Amino acid sequence: MNKEVRVRFAPSPTGALHLGGVRTALFNYLFARKHGGKFILRIEDTDQTRFVPGAEDYIIRSLEWIGLDIDESDIKGGEYGPYKQSNRKHLYTQYAEQLVKDGFAYYAFDTPDELEQMRKKLEAEKASIQCYGPATRMTMKNQLTFGDEQTKLMLQSGAPYVIRFKMPESEKLVLKDIIRGEINADTSILDDKVLYKSDGMPTYHLANIVDDHLMKISHVIRGEEWLPSLPLHYLLYRAFGWTDTMPEFAHLPLILKPDGKGKLSKRDGDRLGFPVFPLHWEDPKSGEVSKGYEEYGYFPEAFLNMMALLGWNPGNTTQEIFTKEELCNLFTLEHVNKAGSKFDPEKNKWFNKQYMLVLPNEELAKYFIEGAKADGIEVSMEKATKICGLVKDRCNFTHDLWKESTYFFIAPTEYDQVNKKKFWKEETPELMKKCVEFMKGIADFSAKNLEDTISAWIQENQLSFGKVLNPMRLLLCGACKGPHIFDILEDLGKEESIKRIETGIEKI
Ligand code: GLU
Repeated sequence: MNKEVRVRFAPSPTGALHLGGVRTALFNYLFARKHGGKFILRIEDTDQTRFVPGAEDYIIRSLEWIGLDIDESDIKGGEYGPYKQSNRKHLYTQYAEQLVKDGFAYYAFDTPDELEQMRKKLEAEKASIQCYGPATRMTMKNQLTFGDEQTKLMLQSGAPYVIRFKMPESEKLVLKDIIRGEINADTSILDDKVLYKSDGMPTYHLANIVDDHLMKISHVIRGEEWLPSLPLHYLLYRAFGWTDTMPEFAHLPLILKPDGKGKLSKRDGDRLGFPVFPLHWEDPKSGEVSKGYEEYGYFPEAFLNMMALLGWNPGNTTQEIFTKEELCNLFTLEHVNKAGSKFDPEKNKWFNKQYMLVLPNEELAKYFIEGAKADGIEVSMEKATKICGLVKDRCNFTHDLWKESTYFFIAPTEYDQVNKKKFWKEETPELMKKCVEFMKGIADFSAKNLEDTISAWIQENQLSFGKVLNPMRLLLCGACKGPHIFDILEDLGKEESIKRIETGIEKI
């Protein structure tokens, strides 16, 4: 890349950062790192009606948790600040006025009622274009219909106004998107978007273009929902005379529901039981609390890894586990898919598991000890390390380690009914009694010896392994789960194992 890469993540603080936002931030970050460029955080808070207290702080904490370090922001500083649009308010007026002066925008005075009437009228007429734009603006109350003199008087009288972009009447635009290729647009069906309001606030479109220009943004990487705004944005660059330094655009594909039908929403997460926000979030308006990936027990590295593969692929490899550094080296916008990417909550767990499995058992033991402690049980480092080695393959999260192994410390008081139905037959109590008598005679209770002797006993008695070992497991653990049964027996020890089997036969 011969130009300096400067990309920005430009969220509006209207709520918690959702997965789409995380993915946009991540792809911007990876692109910046790949090209030795800058990753900028700009807060787009011009729409005061949608402002949610705490959202900005939440966004910043989320980026920190994921490990996306920011090069320029209000906290980090930078040459092009301030990086929050409400603190840049003074900048936008001159640009809006310049567009009016140059004939690319105009004042409009329509009241909300009048706009509503226009909407209804167009709807009733079943007009082919139903917006405030080239086809309708000459029927409305604006500078184009009033003339400059009257407009001046209206402004002097303090009448509320907006400044609208004057969409070219009929121009065919051919624009470029790095991911999607050529984008065609016909301006005759586009609307005269509001750029500025008389309260002195720009709208998203004006502020976004002015800031991208002033902050020397080289590439705009953002969600697909902004693709319809691309023609307007291009026309704004053209109207300002900034096309030479206009950024390149890349619109990222949607993240789809697990069944692939439509855009992933918060409700899908609630319905299917997976988090849709990186961190814990309490909505200040509704009071609704949402658990984040962090609280669910995801490693930030695993979360980052799985987010990177949502819509991007590394090319000719089946590798799925990547460090952040590897992703920074490999990332290209050319390998971002056009089509939406299906969100797979089960695969997310798999990613977490891969990150967990590479940790040494001593490291996992710390989580195990913490879990046991919360249940009032003290476990030595040595024992925790050993059990982690046995059970980790069955866990997706570090908090599963303890939850999956409580039976090593607490004898079951209940037995899984589904397993019971399946494995506890009429002849089972007798069989268990016989087996336990045999086990009483085994002196060496090591897993290896138990496996040899019990297997031999099963064969001598012409029994099947399942018929003996499944019910035994049920009595030892309360359910048919856990590692190799002989490892469980060894760990419980002879006395406890026999006790569990004998009391279990009576209790089950
Ligand atoms: N503020 C917009 C958003 O929240 C930014 C869109 C853009 O990146 O241009 O999505």
